[in-house]
Amino acid sequence: MNTTSSSSGNPNVSQAEIDKFSALASRWWDPESEFKPLHAINPLRLGWIQQMTGPLTGKRVIDVGCGGGILAESMAVAGATVTGIDLAEKSLTVARLHSLESGVPVDYQAISAEDFAARQPGQFDVVTCMEMLEHVPDPASIVQACSQMVKPGGWVFFSTLNRNPKSFLFAIVGAEYVLRLLPRGTHSYEKFIKPSELSRAVRQSGLTVMEMAGMGYNPITDLYSLSKDTSVNYLMATQKKAL
Ligand code: SAH
Repeated sequence: MNTTSSSSGNPNVSQAEIDKFSALASRWWDPESEFKPLHAINPLRLGWIQQMTGPLTGKRVIDVGCGGGILAESMAVAGATVTGIDLAEKSLTVARLHSLESGVPVDYQAISAEDFAARQPGQFDVVTCMEMLEHVPDPASIVQACSQMVKPGGWVFFSTLNRNPKSFLFAIVGAEYVLRLLPRGTHSYEKFIKPSELSRAVRQSGLTVMEMAGMGYNPITDLYSLSKDTSVNYLMATQKKAL
C-alpha cells in the first residue's frame, strides 16, 4: 500500500505524494518554477477568501497542506495569525526560511491534519485547505479534520480538481503535457473530486456549503480568473454554523 504513518499511526498520507513535493521543495518561492500556477492564482484565491470572511486582521487561520507557504504567508501579510501544517519536512524548511527572510511570521508545523485537529479543536476562525485533497488517500478524513479545527461561525475553504472528461483534458493533458504548466504526474485523474462528492463530505463533517467558484486559465493571455465554471479547478467556501 502506498501509505505511511505519522506519529499517531494516521495512515491518511501517500508517501509518494510527499516525496513528489519534497523533491521540488527548493523551488517553492521561484515564481517561474513548477509552482508558477500557485503564485499566479494566489491573489485571486486570497481575495475570494477575504470576500467571505471580511478582513483577516487579528483572525486565527490554519493552512492545511501549506507547502512552501505561498497562501499562508499572504494571509499573514493580510494581518492574520497563521499556522501552516504539512507532512513534507523539506517544504516546511523552505517555508520557515522564507518567513524569516520576509519577516512575515507564520508558525509552521509538521503534523497531519487529523492529529492537529485532535490537539486543537475549535480554535480557528478560518481554515484553508487548497490543492491538497487530490493528493491524499482519504479526502473526507481531511475535511472532517478541518471541520474539527474551525470555531462555530468560522469558515473553511477547499480547492481541488473536478473529475470529468473536460478536467482530464485540461488539467492533465493540457497542463502537464501540452502547456507544461506542471510536471507530468503531478495529478492523478482518479483522485480528482466532484463538487457533489466534496459537498457530501463537507455536510457529513458538519459544515455548510456557502459558495463555489471556478478557477480558469487562458493560455493565450497566460492569465487566471475566477468564474462560475467549476468544471476543472474549483474552490468551495463552507461555514461551521454557530449553534
Ligand atoms: N496548499 C498549498 C500547496 C498545495 S500542493 C498551496 O495551494 O499553495 C499540495 C501540498 O499538500 C504539498 O505541500 C504536499 O506536501 C501536501 N500534502 C500532501 N499530502 C498531505 C498530507 N497527507 N498531509 C499534509 N499535507 C499533505
